[in-house]
Amino acid sequence: MKSSTKECDLFVIGAGSGGVRAARLAAQSGANVVIAEKYRIGGTCVIRGCIPKKLLSYSSKFSKHNIIAQSYGWSFDEPRFSWNRLIENKNKEIQRLSNIYKTNLEKSGANVIESEAKIIDRDTVELSNGDQFKCKKILIATGAKPNFPNITGIEYGISSDDFFELDKLPENVVIVGGGYIALEFASIISGFGTMCELIYRGDRLLKNFDVDISNNIYEQIQSDKCKVRLNTDITKLDLHDGKYTATLNDGSTISTDLVLFATGRNSDLSFLGDKIEIETDANGRVKVDSQFQTSISNIYAIGDVANNHHLTPVAIREAMIFAREQFEKDTDKFIIENIPTAIFSNPEIGTIGLSEQDALQKYKKIDIYTSSFRPLYYTLSDVNKRTFIKLIIDHKTQVLIGFHMMGDDSAELTQIMSTLINKKASKTDLDNTIPLHPSTSEEIMTMRNKVTKEL
Ligand code: NDP
Repeated sequence: MKSSTKECDLFVIGAGSGGVRAARLAAQSGANVVIAEKYRIGGTCVIRGCIPKKLLSYSSKFSKHNIIAQSYGWSFDEPRFSWNRLIENKNKEIQRLSNIYKTNLEKSGANVIESEAKIIDRDTVELSNGDQFKCKKILIATGAKPNFPNITGIEYGISSDDFFELDKLPENVVIVGGGYIALEFASIISGFGTMCELIYRGDRLLKNFDVDISNNIYEQIQSDKCKVRLNTDITKLDLHDGKYTATLNDGSTISTDLVLFATGRNSDLSFLGDKIEIETDANGRVKVDSQFQTSISNIYAIGDVANNHHLTPVAIREAMIFAREQFEKDTDKFIIENIPTAIFSNPEIGTIGLSEQDALQKYKKIDIYTSSFRPLYYTLSDVNKRTFIKLIIDHKTQVLIGFHMMGDDSAELTQIMSTLINKKASKTDLDNTIPLHPSTSEEIMTMRNKVTKEL
């Protein structure tokens, strides 16, 4: 069949969270928009990230809830877990969400194309079938793909993307990394009863988080099903009789059913045709300015592919700013600052604002309030899960500048605390709030033990 050339105002490459939002908003404002996706509509968050991860995380917590239920007088038959049923239900849900994304795109008036798309010159995008689009603007929203370290036998390792598709749950797993995915999957996998060993090359997990969060999660994530080894790295992987052998940097070995690499993600640059070059930073991320413009003036990039923050809500916010500026000519700008973030490990982590280290650098003198306690929910059982909360206050103004939490519902509370931080609430505002009793959040309102630190 003969290929064709069409025209559009905006061509979006990648139908993940950022691309879908930008395409919908631009189309709704009257632009002629085309969006192409080479894999499945929904992108990382819906198909192989946030959503399936959180579903697995919910599932993995039932083993603990079952133990606690007994302390509340309940007893159940011997609990059994079906990986296949979970994956089947998870697949149905992500297909439902993917369909909704597609329908919403079509309703907005965007032309949805399920194909790979490549930029072949500054205003031309080509599909796999050879069809071309002449585009006034192009938006790259292709996201990122797993990074694997360069070691012998790396082909035996898998990423979190692959974990969602496993036929069966292994009996033991080695996880490499000390960031978001490593902690979330260590919690999920050990929650299912699979033995899990977390191998991290550094001396503190979550090295970019507040140091107390790193220390607390190191203590609390370890259990009879989850071990953590710091200052350790895998140097080689082998396969013998269906089992993998991981050689560590101290020369010792671990035999395991599966090795999962959670070692960061790299920009997906597969949108680049042979004859086009777009500037990237030292990490291979597409360089953008404050308006998401790349080194080519009519080509923009948002989300994980670009050299900004790599979180779904940030990609969505970037899409909103891009669409407003380029198609609605709206001058009422959104601001991207104070980004809350959560890790759905067990225990969960939530954080907003500055860590102690960063707050000291910026404000020079800070007040710190911490609280560590065993939540009421666990007190009837032997489960020794603790909650940790930390507030960071600018000493001079008494304004709240950081909130860090590890424990149940951390993500939910962090979201609310982010409004307080945005509104520059003070410690006095918290003190003046009547605590809701009995609850975890009352701890935030009743913190009294202050430590002042000065640079
Ligand atoms: P992270 O950047 O959080 O962590 C990567 C980890 O891998 C770090 O501990 C890093 O070590 C380690 N690492 C990197 N390269 C190597 C290597 N060659 N050998 C050994 N270790 C290595 O990335 P993740 O993969 O966990 O997640 C990717 C991104 O996805 C996150 O940054 C986040 O933006 C997003 N995400 C968000 C989630 C959420 O919001 N809940 C959940 C999951 C992912 P070191 O610290 O020493 O560099």
